[in-house]
Amino acid sequence: MIVNHISELPLEKCPALVLNADYRPLSYYPLSLWCWQDVVRDVFLDRVNIVSEYEREIRSPSFSMKLPSVISLKTFIKPSEYPNFTRFNVFLRDKFTCQYCGAHKNLTFDHLVPKSKGGITSWENVVTACMCCNVKKGNRLSSECAMYPKIKPYRPTDEQLHKNGRNFPPNFLHQSWLDYLYWDVRLEA
Ligand SMILES: [Zn+2]
Repeated sequence: MIVNHISELPLEKCPALVLNADYRPLSYYPLSLWCWQDVVRDVFLDRVNIVSEYEREIRSPSFSMKLPSVISLKTFIKPSEYPNFTRFNVFLRDKFTCQYCGAHKNLTFDHLVPKSKGGITSWENVVTACMCCNVKKGNRLSSECAMYPKIKPYRPTDEQLHKNGRNFPPNFLHQSWLDYLYWDVRLEA
């Protein structure tokens, strides 16, 4: 969903997209968004540039300002090469697809070497599996049940995740963010 007119929205629904000093998002997964309080604080501390604004204003008796919808850092932060190990990022690596049957719904984590057999929760030992396949595999090794994942799990680079991520935009994007993001999504009228 793209929202154009949110002048009446509550303040907590007005986060700002945070860009690095090179005008690329600070992070994609999750998308770097700051709440309005953090944004206003950093504007006053002169740490960020305001790139775009909401219609929504905040006011006090002596002052008013439009809330920034896009800001950029004044100091460049070197992006990390590897994304965080999160549930979402594992699903993204596996393109939100069960690695056993190809289903896209009811997704869970499957430990290739089950926890009960000493398997750890890591990029290399976890794959996306639907609930059915997860239950079916249970506490067995792939060799014990002839269930092999389509990919050998690996630790992806940021770039590999970005490649998959283009197909999975988040469900809320403000119009003013789109110039800085790579999701090619249609605006709602
Ligand atoms: Zn499955």
